[in-house]
Amino acid sequence: MSLGEFDLIRHFFDRPELRSTRSDVLGIGDDCALLSVPDGYQLAQSLDTLVSGVHFPVKCDPFLLAYRALATNISDLAAMGAKPHSFTLALTIPESNTGWLQTFSDGLVALAQPFGMALIGGDTTKGPLTISIQVQGLITQGKALKRSGAKEGDLIYVSGCLGDAAGALPDVLAGLYPDTCNDPDARYLLERYYMPTPRVELGRWLSEHGATAALDVSDGLLGDLGHILKASQVGAELDLTSLPVSSELKAITGSEKALHHGLSGGDDYELCFTWPAGKTLVLPDVLAGKCPVTCIGRIIDMAGIIDRRSKEPLLADAYRHF
Ligand code: ADP
Ligand code: MG
Repeated sequence: MSLGEFDLIRHFFDRPELRSTRSDVLGIGDDCALLSVPDGYQLAQSLDTLVSGVHFPVKCDPFLLAYRALATNISDLAAMGAKPHSFTLALTIPESNTGWLQTFSDGLVALAQPFGMALIGGDTTKGPLTISIQVQGLITQGKALKRSGAKEGDLIYVSGCLGDAAGALPDVLAGLYPDTCNDPDARYLLERYYMPTPRVELGRWLSEHGATAALDVSDGLLGDLGHILKASQVGAELDLTSLPVSSELKAITGSEKALHHGLSGGDDYELCFTWPAGKTLVLPDVLAGKCPVTCIGRIIDMAGIIDRRSKEPLLADAYRHF
């Protein structure tokens, strides 16, 4: 069955589960969406585009595609410490396949609902499959975590484990999904790739409690940490023995490759942040239980990233081959 443009929007995107219940939000149906920024808050915005065959396999499960597209955008809000508010969706599809659209829309609901996000507008066009999502979040005025705040002596932390998504890549390219994979370790890695967890609560807590800089790790730790270092005009010394890699990743790739993935594998969407040295970091139990954080090094005044033990430089490019 094929639907006209307006029926399609009404059916799959203006569905009750994606609608805002707030009286200060005007969602789908008018020429513009309207939202209010409460006094004392700033609006955080981020946009990402995913192109079929470039950012995801041409034949990709639409539920996981929608979930991942929204998750990676919410992760940008998390990195700044913002509370998710709403999103817009520009969808380009080759045909109006209702089964595909239903599953895609269900994937949006699965993540938008727990984060209380409404789909407030967008655009629907015909063409090669492309998904652009713009997210909006709210953050207390002046509290956003930026990349430029790291100071010499600050400790460097990451959330969760790194490298899992990179470890899943061969299976992703082979067309496997979590529910079509029998090996429990490989399934775990596929889940981390397709359904990353945006660290929203952690980011909000860090922004309220004095982290000095943060970002989400989308391109690999060494490269992304490099963005903080450049923006803050400092360097870093890492203790490779403390890098958190999962037992599942080690079981699949072995310890050495797991470390390489942890240093340079992308797509994990964990947070990397800096914290003042003189201040003890104690996460509330509910946060630490969901997502531990690990200190992996400290900020130094010399540019670049070095291994704490050997004092040798750690280069993002050197690890890109893995
Ligand atoms: P216009 O032609 O005025 O730009 P459209 O016909 O593109 O309006 O869209 C009609 C309404 O549906 C608008 O409120 C728009 O924001 C919304 N909309 C269109 N496509 C999507 C989509 N993929 N997801 C969410 N809302 C959408
Ligand atoms: Mg339009």
